[in-house]
Amino acid sequence: MSASAPITQDVLTLPRKLPDGPINLIGLTRDAMRDALIATGTPEKQARMRVSQIWQWLYVWGARDFEAMTNLAKGYRADLARHFVVELPEVVRRDISADGTRKYLVRIAGGHEVEVVYIPEEDRGTLCISSQVGCTLTCSFCHTGTQKLVRNLTAGEIVGQVMMARDDLGEWPEPGEGMGERPRLISNIVLMGMGEPLYNFDNVRDAMKITMDGEGIALSRRRITLSTSGVVPEIARTAEEIGCMLAISFHATTDAVRDQLVPINKRWNIKTLLDALRAYPKASNSERITFEYVMLKGVNDSDDDARRLVKLIAGIPAKINLIPFNEWPGAPYQRSDWDQIERFADIVYKAGYASPIRTPRGEDIMAACGQLKSATERARKSRAQIAADAGLGHGRPA
Ligand code: SAH
Ligand code: SF4
Repeated sequence: MSASAPITQDVLTLPRKLPDGPINLIGLTRDAMRDALIATGTPEKQARMRVSQIWQWLYVWGARDFEAMTNLAKGYRADLARHFVVELPEVVRRDISADGTRKYLVRIAGGHEVEVVYIPEEDRGTLCISSQVGCTLTCSFCHTGTQKLVRNLTAGEIVGQVMMARDDLGEWPEPGEGMGERPRLISNIVLMGMGEPLYNFDNVRDAMKITMDGEGIALSRRRITLSTSGVVPEIARTAEEIGCMLAISFHATTDAVRDQLVPINKRWNIKTLLDALRAYPKASNSERITFEYVMLKGVNDSDDDARRLVKLIAGIPAKINLIPFNEWPGAPYQRSDWDQIERFADIVYKAGYASPIRTPRGEDIMAACGQLKSATERARKSRAQIAADAGLGHGRPA
């Protein structure tokens, strides 16, 4: 796809229910589960109670088998097993980096694969999950962007990534253990894997609502961060309908450069994006918007860029997360020199913004930001095509 190709949003979402097949309970919101139970014979009066019971088994205890749901009558458990399944994405490969980062390749319906990354830190652990197979957008520095979009993930496939990682980390409580007794291994979730989450809004919202539900996985909304390249019309809904934290892939301080790096900028430019952020319902000093800024040598990393950046975002409660560029085979950019990254961070910091530099993690297993791309989709564009898309045919972007 060339950089000037139209940006499309009309991607497929697999239906939750195949015509006559059983319904996957994972990914149904409480309301949807209630409807599904009633439709398959649960008396309406009991439905809410049954949802609560099943919900606890699935999301507090990590149960997968209806037979284990011992507070439900035997006959009812058999009914459930006739109409429903409890299905998660299947892990086909797990790599563990020297720094402890884990990268999972998981297979979803249709044989497609997406990547999920777990990043342990001293006092927390972050799970980076995917929202689409590939991405329709073609950010020129992003490995995922070289992979054509195959389809949107369902809500079940999104929350399923969290459950799969909890399985692998042994995070579900043992019978007899109280809720909240175990230290949380997955304390934070970032929607920063493959795909543009705001092009799959409803499924991402439902999956995050399930993840936040207080009688289940119960992760606080403040510990979930959704990262978008700047799908302006959907930004306000993130605050209104999900309530999680917001990160923006900003990456440039002029439209000319941002057009090259983040092509969605041609549709919604820097001013339009910043106007939407100024009007963002949830922005406050305690809930700052994160501006992600990938450091590309000689492209967007000058002192002038740093000064322009702080001017542009004036008035927006923000922090700036500097991401040293992670290389991938054929990438048309280089990581900025460390000195320059620090100078940039310093200018931003002195202007009054937190400016952490994101430590690259899991690079040895290609698990770092922007390196994700599923193994089934390795057929890469040629180096020349990537350079042409990035506007590098006649030298670097200005
Ligand atoms: N599609 C969403 C979320 C996924 S990308 C978005 O673009 O925001 C998560 C973050 O990693 C984004 O800020 C993205 O711009 C950044 N990123 C992509 N490729 C990268 C690379 N090669 N090195 C460093 N960061 C990268
Ligand atoms: Fe898609 Fe985000 Fe990569 Fe851009 S940076 S191509 S929006 S995944």
